[in-house]
Amino acid sequence: MSREPGAAWRGQWEADPAGGWRGRLGAGRLWFAGRGGGVSAPPYGTLNLSRHVGDLPQAVAENRRRAISRGAPTPDAVWGQLVHGPDVAWLGPEAVPGPGPVADGLLTEQAGLTIAMTFADCVPIWLASRSPAAGGLLHAGWRGTVRGVARAGVAALAARGAAPNVLDVVIGPSIGPCCYEVGSEVVDAVMALDLGPGLVDSRRHLDLWEANRRLLCAAGVAEERVLVVGLCTACHPEWLFSHRREGGRTGRNGGFFRMDPT
Ligand SMILES: [Zn+2]
Repeated sequence: MSREPGAAWRGQWEADPAGGWRGRLGAGRLWFAGRGGGVSAPPYGTLNLSRHVGDLPQAVAENRRRAISRGAPTPDAVWGQLVHGPDVAWLGPEAVPGPGPVADGLLTEQAGLTIAMTFADCVPIWLASRSPAAGGLLHAGWRGTVRGVARAGVAALAARGAAPNVLDVVIGPSIGPCCYEVGSEVVDAVMALDLGPGLVDSRRHLDLWEANRRLLCAAGVAEERVLVVGLCTACHPEWLFSHRREGGRTGRNGGFFRMDPT
């Protein structure tokens, strides 16, 4: 896809002059950092946010500081430890910055706490409500999609009083149906979800954006409250890291969410 970044969603998802994109969501704010504006050398140039891809630790620390600072007054965050599973963790008053729970979803009501996750091609899904003020971020590759992380995120918010139909949702930059050719194992697993036609084309390109949109709506999220940004990581080497495009040797983009103080 070649959609202009920032064109989507009535101006609430916009290019950030400091790099990446940002927007408001429910009672919080989200932002997404691509590869620009950091200090890492190739193949991690320049804003790699992962400690697990072979980049220099001091470079990653500086990149994380820069990326978090685009949306938060203090440069620290709870970083999800991602395992491509369905588990969602709730961050309460005891949550402290640093490595967070082993979970592909982090949700909170805590104003001033920044949630962070790394992404290359997997789908960032932000969910938030205004009242109650709650929200967070999910990480959904094909495994997380099939295992139900989207539904788990909606259910966890509902358990805290944020009904599905009051959630605002953004499905962010990740590999698009233009570039995501998959094998029969993946096709079979997605088809088993029974989400209807049109998710896989004749070239076996999978539309993970649409699969997650349908899963969210099936869980009760209102269609008009879901934004699919439509920005493919593999199509935009100038802005975004892509694991698929680079054959695995590359950095990681970052997704962030923060609840505003009331
Ligand atoms: Zn693409």
